[in-house]
Amino acid sequence: MSRDTRDQRPPLRASELAPSQVMLYPEVRAVVCPGCGRWQVPSHGRIRRHGACPQRGRAVWFDLTTAEWLASLRIALREAASRRGSRVHRVGHPPVPPPLHSRRSRGAQG
Ligand SMILES: [Zn+2]
Repeated sequence: MSRDTRDQRPPLRASELAPSQVMLYPEVRAVVCPGCGRWQVPSHGRIRRHGACPQRGRAVWFDLTTAEWLASLRIALREAASRRGSRVHRVGHPPVPPPLHSRRSRGAQG
């Protein structure tokens, strides 16, 4: 029935990724692609095609709420700061969404 059923790869779950690899704002939900390390904004629950990256089509489950993600992100940042053993730098800002140029450069990316 569905042409996507052949994809045997397990979905990327937000709850299983590092908080810094996920972005879960109400307006922007993105994930760092495990194939190329770039931020990707999934479409219809899947990573869109981007370049020749083999991770295209990978299912992504955002199974955390924004509040849950922010909480774990804060903990991760605190742990990273204490692991460094130095004074806490000014961490605490979640990652900034990447600029989305896709509308303009659509056909040129594939
Ligand atoms: Zn990729």
